[in-house]
Amino acid sequence: MPNKIRKIAVLTSGGDAPGMNAAVRAVVRTCAYHGVECIGVYRGYEGLIEGDFKPMNARSVRGIINKGGTMLKSARSKEFRTKEGREKAFQNIIKEGIEGLVVIGGDGSFTGALVFNQEFGFPVMGIPGTIDNDIFGTTHTLGFDTALNTVVDAIDKIRDTASSHNRLFFIEVMGRDVGHIALNTGIAGGAEEILIPEEDLGLDRLKESLNRSRKTGKTSSIVVVAEGDKIGKNIFELKEYVDENMEGYDVRVSVLGHMQRGGAPSCFDRVLASRMGVKAVETLLEGETNYMVGLKNNKMELTPLEQAIKGKTKINLELLRVSDIMST
Ligand code: ATP
Repeated sequence: MPNKIRKIAVLTSGGDAPGMNAAVRAVVRTCAYHGVECIGVYRGYEGLIEGDFKPMNARSVRGIINKGGTMLKSARSKEFRTKEGREKAFQNIIKEGIEGLVVIGGDGSFTGALVFNQEFGFPVMGIPGTIDNDIFGTTHTLGFDTALNTVVDAIDKIRDTASSHNRLFFIEVMGRDVGHIALNTGIAGGAEEILIPEEDLGLDRLKESLNRSRKTGKTSSIVVVAEGDKIGKNIFELKEYVDENMEGYDVRVSVLGHMQRGGAPSCFDRVLASRMGVKAVETLLEGETNYMVGLKNNKMELTPLEQAIKGKTKINLELLRVSDIMST
């Protein structure tokens, strides 16, 4: 490996996601393995602008692989969106002798990294960390698998109370633009219907489906709704609709909210984070820049940051069909 880079910085940016700590640990330890210095940057791009740096060695990241959130803290930085802010960040980087940057975050964070590279020619590498799984170039983002397990656990618990009282529950899960969490957890939690941003089921079909379920002997129902579902109604409006248009339903709603982002990362996310951290550092050491590391066909693959930002993830049509069949 042509190891020209001697000092790498790592930061976490945008919304936090389980597995970010495991990725920081992997970056730090890969640097240590290759004899490269590593700097932790606190509070994402804010810390870059303020010079909030901490040298990290292999022991600095002990005991964090199993922790949710991010020990480096995350932030959304308005100042980094300005040329002056990025100039300050670059001056700090030069002063500290940093020669490469690993950014763990979502597409906004990658856009910041790309702009920074284009302005200063500085080597950057992205690791996708967001529970929504909405980044092109990887089948899984960090935190997605953990969030799925958290949501399924919650649905199972709600199912217990739904079936004890013959209730219909609308459960809102995260996913403003994509329905990956809703679709997967809806299938795993045995939901009667799943409402996602990619597909307009329509209120009539929802009504028909619930009535059909009831006729076939179901006494309780769960409908999983992504935040940005295409029907365009939030779960409180959906409850109102059922209350007004369908007889005999005892409807409840549950918004899972931020609990979906927390918790110890799953085994899958810990392994994924470790693989991504190794790949990100080693790719920088090979002299590459402007890539995101991702998982494809169980291999670590690189996608140009520009594509990762612009590309759209697609909903799995086979899963949609499975969910239709399962709600028979
Ligand atoms: P999430 O998916 O959780 O929202 P994200 O990485 O997309 O994560 P954003 O808030 O969109 O989160 O972006 C994180 C940070 O990246 C911003 O606060 C900003 O500092 C930086 N950033 C985003 N877009 C740009 C841009 N066009 N130019 C410079 N910096 C940017």
